[in-house]
Amino acid sequence: MQRAVSKKCLKTNEAEEEGEEEHLNSGLLHCAHLVLPWLTSLELASISLSCKSLNATSKSITLRRILDASRSLEKIPIPFHNPIDDRPYAFFLYTPTAIIPNCHFKRQYWGSISNTQSGHIESESMNLVDDWVGGVFGCDCENCGEFESQCPCSSVDGLEDVASECGPRCSCGLECDNRVTQRGISVRLKIMRDEKKGWGLYADELIQEGAFVCEYAGELLTTGEARRRQKIYDARAKGGRFASSLLVVREHLPSGNACLRMNIDATWIGNVARFINHSCDGGNLVTRLNGNGRHWVIN
Ligand SMILES: [Zn+2]
Ligand SMILES: [Zn+2]
Ligand SMILES: [Zn+2]
Repeated sequence: MQRAVSKKCLKTNEAEEEGEEEHLNSGLLHCAHLVLPWLTSLELASISLSCKSLNATSKSITLRRILDASRSLEKIPIPFHNPIDDRPYAFFLYTPTAIIPNCHFKRQYWGSISNTQSGHIESESMNLVDDWVGGVFGCDCENCGEFESQCPCSSVDGLEDVASECGPRCSCGLECDNRVTQRGISVRLKIMRDEKKGWGLYADELIQEGAFVCEYAGELLTTGEARRRQKIYDARAKGGRFASSLLVVREHLPSGNACLRMNIDATWIGNVARFINHSCDGGNLVTRLNGNGRHWVIN
């Protein structure tokens, strides 16, 4: 009789333990869904080895990361394709527009099933263009696109190669024809891995000549900071397979004097423009300014 009771007790304890374990597992899984999307690719790979549940969660996060490099911050997802090796995606922090450096921004939510967290980087806006440069005061046209040449924002005096757009000081809204680049990426793109060149940006549909592809987004640096970082990147590049994405653009006045220099570093924080192949003669790069003095890449 006593033996039967102890057996019963034993079974009850086992059931309780199983229940507790299940409860712990579901708690762990819930936390994993909240925590794992904040991890870097290396951290995610490492934690996926610890147990079956975390392995499954890591895999689902990896799959979602492959589907969209932009972390849902662009209107159209930009997927990774790798026919070469087993690297699933390239890891970097995403910003759809240029930002000023923010030392507090070290992690970004990416790859969760419920993408409720906003991955936007909070950053102050920055005016790169002095007020004396024409076209940054804003316009009050009825329709800027109708007679484009008459909109004072469509060109910048003294900067013939620099196109210009309407900005926050203009009376028009985002639907204005002279704000094409401000509406973000609207062509289908993909990031493919090449055996020799690594990850590269490709068109995933026919893109008309002259159409806007994307801004070269990244951290906007002072020239001093750009030079400091370039030294670090050069040293790292000597030591192994490292390539920075620090872009320096100089625009010259007709007199030949440099009037505008922009340093945009997309090495750690940037958008998909960081995968566009380098071209020494400018290639598909065009400088375009708006009222905030931003810089863009156009195909
Ligand atoms: Zn306008
Ligand atoms: Zn206008
Ligand atoms: Zn305007």
